[in-house]
Amino acid sequence: MIIESILPTPNIFDAKRVLCIQPHYDDNDIAAAGTLTLLHQNGAELFYLTATDDLMGVVDHSLSNEEAAKALKRDQFAAGKIIGVKEQYWLGYPDAGEYDYFALRRDFLKYIRMIQPDFVVTVDPWLTYEAHHDHIQTGLAAAEAVIFAGLTKIPSSDPTVDSAYKEHDIKGIVFYHTREPNQVMDISATWETKIAAVRCYEAQFNQADMDRLIMALDAKSRQVAAGESFARGEPLKVLHTSALHCGF
Ligand SMILES: [Zn+2]
Repeated sequence: MIIESILPTPNIFDAKRVLCIQPHYDDNDIAAAGTLTLLHQNGAELFYLTATDDLMGVVDHSLSNEEAAKALKRDQFAAGKIIGVKEQYWLGYPDAGEYDYFALRRDFLKYIRMIQPDFVVTVDPWLTYEAHHDHIQTGLAAAEAVIFAGLTKIPSSDPTVDSAYKEHDIKGIVFYHTREPNQVMDISATWETKIAAVRCYEAQFNQADMDRLIMALDAKSRQVAAGESFARGEPLKVLHTSALHCGF
């Protein structure tokens, strides 16, 4: 019996409720907006949870932290409207700052138990040469929270959520920003939507940087689709949740 028959790679188009956990305001959309738009069009509800306050990347240094936070949220709501995000949540950990891994994991447990997603989408914490600690912490804490969601002896940050929680099934986890994809999603039909959403993130990019980002996304989307029957793709690692422990 091959392992794939016991732990089959889940089909992300079975997703009904998708929790997308990102380090910064724009990560979900830059990496996976094409796929997430497809899932929304397929009837899935999308929930975004952002770990940090993202204040370090705001380009206009004349803005106060309050003004910068407002601008970031304005951009994220505009992008979310384009993609079809149902709900946005923020944890406000200091961007590129010092914070506790286990506090982050407790918060992720809370939102997983509260939202009860059937898929969790997040950043690949094992991306080789990833130097940004927010990405490593967020991806790892999200993956751990996925495997611990049903273990209610492990508390989340909200006892009320924990006591109301009824065990539910998480079919799979999807990592973006990965160097080891096992699927390339055909995003040819949602490419324009993705780019329209990415362009909303004005607080974090000046015009030249935004244009460079779009050029890079354009090249990457074509590069990963080489040899496929479609023009543009997003590389993803899609795993059965039981594959997140001991190498299955
Ligand atoms: Zn990021």
